[in-house]
Amino acid sequence: MAERGEREAFVTLATNDTYALGCLVLGNSLKQRARTTRKLVVMVTQGVSQSMRNQLARVFDMIYDVNLLDSRDSANLQLLGRPDLSVTFTKFHCWRLTMFEKAVFLDADTLVLQNVDELFDREELSAAPDAGWPDCFNSGVFVFRPSEETYNALLQFAMAQGSFDGGDQGLLNMYFRDWATKDIARHLPFIYNVVSQAFYSYLPAFTQFKDSVKIVHFIGATKPWHHPYNTTTKEVTPLPETGHNKDYLQIWWDIFMTFIQPTLDPSLKEQMGGLIGELAALSLESGATYGGSQEHLSEQERKLNWERGQVDYLGADKFENIEKKLNKSMQGPAASSKTYAASPFKNISVTSKATEQKQPPKE
Ligand code: UDP
Ligand code: MN
Repeated sequence: MAERGEREAFVTLATNDTYALGCLVLGNSLKQRARTTRKLVVMVTQGVSQSMRNQLARVFDMIYDVNLLDSRDSANLQLLGRPDLSVTFTKFHCWRLTMFEKAVFLDADTLVLQNVDELFDREELSAAPDAGWPDCFNSGVFVFRPSEETYNALLQFAMAQGSFDGGDQGLLNMYFRDWATKDIARHLPFIYNVVSQAFYSYLPAFTQFKDSVKIVHFIGATKPWHHPYNTTTKEVTPLPETGHNKDYLQIWWDIFMTFIQPTLDPSLKEQMGGLIGELAALSLESGATYGGSQEHLSEQERKLNWERGQVDYLGADKFENIEKKLNKSMQGPAASSKTYAASPFKNISVTSKATEQKQPPKE
């Protein structure tokens, strides 16, 4: 029988190049920091470019293409009418990795700080409590057994029930609904899925237990790659109001700048522009600051944040942009029809992410 290192795998997912960056850092943390002995698998959709797939192939043992609208599969066919559930179902494809006996799914926005290979001694479905509602598990880290049967059952269940939170977490919690009460062995300790804002909600516990944290999870709309990074000081600046812990953000960026960024193809800058292009062009010698901002948020989300007092001082809402917007508005309606800067990298840009990007729900 094959070694456990062959039969067991860590699995993650990216539906676009930005989340693929997260996968690269995660994969590196598993290899370089945690020294795992298990296989690494990344599931990708068509939204991940060829150059990013090449990057992923340097870190992951397997790149597993998943295609939601696969007409060979009758359950998938029904999905054609439910585009809202598409990213959710993409995660469920992990159950199809039946070449592995057991696996651990990790979100692309997680970071492994210490070896966690002992997770493979747990049974399906093992997961840590969600910090917001601890009778639910958080679906950013879970132990499962690949099985076509479970995959189909999950899809059927989802079709029939829908998800109470619109995502995979709601569905998985309904499907594995005895998790909260049945078997304490399936409750992973919180240290396997610590939200990076934990120090904020319970500081004394965080101070007491922070050295035992094994996996950090950067939940929320603003991910580590959205934060400003200074190439001279090699320091990240936590964006106000995101609540992410600076030490964890710094570890993410240290891994990114040491192992990933130097291997990014500089031509990505021309090909892709935007966040990936800027990251590919970063150089530690240049002394430049990588912007980071709420650029990835839609105009609507940004407006809401502004109204809540969460102002993106370093990005879209910086003073020059506001001044520019005011000037344009005062020049009349024709001039003000262009949106003001969303790009944190250039001083002023006349298109915003919201108008440039038509498709991805999250980036
Ligand atoms: N994901 C993706 N593309 C998307 C949204 C999500 O690939 O547009 C994947 C990615 O692996 C991500 C996971 O689905 O980590 C769950 O989403 P996210 O981590 O953004 O949710 P949160 O943990 O903030 O609730
Ligand atoms: Mn996540």
